Amino acid sequence: MRKLAICPGSFDPVTNGHLDIISRGAKVFEEVVVTVFNNQSKSPLFTVEERKQLLEESLKDLPNVRVDSSSGLLMDYAREIGATAVIRGLRAVSDFEYEMQITSMNRKLNEDVETLFMMTNTKYSFLSSSMVKEAAKYQGNISGLVPDVVEQALKEKFK
Ligand code: ADP
Repeated sequence: MRKLAICPGSFDPVTNGHLDIISRGAKVFEEVVVTVFNNQSKSPLFTVEERKQLLEESLKDLPNVRVDSSSGLLMDYAREIGATAVIRGLRAVSDFEYEMQITSMNRKLNEDVETLFMMTNTKYSFLSSSMVKEAAKYQGNISGLVPDVVEQALKEKFK
């Protein structure tokens, strides 16, 4: 059976920090599915469809990576698609507590799926979708932080 990992997230929008984790994950696993989860509490800027399109465009050069979306529980979704693992990125110690809580809950829900953490490249450790959106809203320079398609999409949103 092919070893499949999920990179779940809001990706509102995808940043170079996400791409760093996804591309490194794709070197470890035979197949990676990047799944957009609609987190209602976050009132997103981009629709799920828009977020998927931006991910697809940004990941088109990675042949073993595909993009999907789901509105259910991550661990039910993992079972459905036969995933071996979930990959999450860690930027700083501040991410740790939140991630530990979700991981223990997820483990209770599905013991067959392991959660693996990858530390971000330090150049992205300050980078988040929210920071990028905030900067883009005031026409700040976000080049080098997001893929070109995302930079364009943000310009359109805040025109
Ligand atoms: P969520 O709403 O699930 O936190 P995000 O889209 O913010 O979704 O993040 C998705 C995944 O990418 C998470 O594992 C997060 O820790 C990771 N991530 C976010 N930003 C970065 C970054 N700059 N470097 C590395 N990983 C990141």
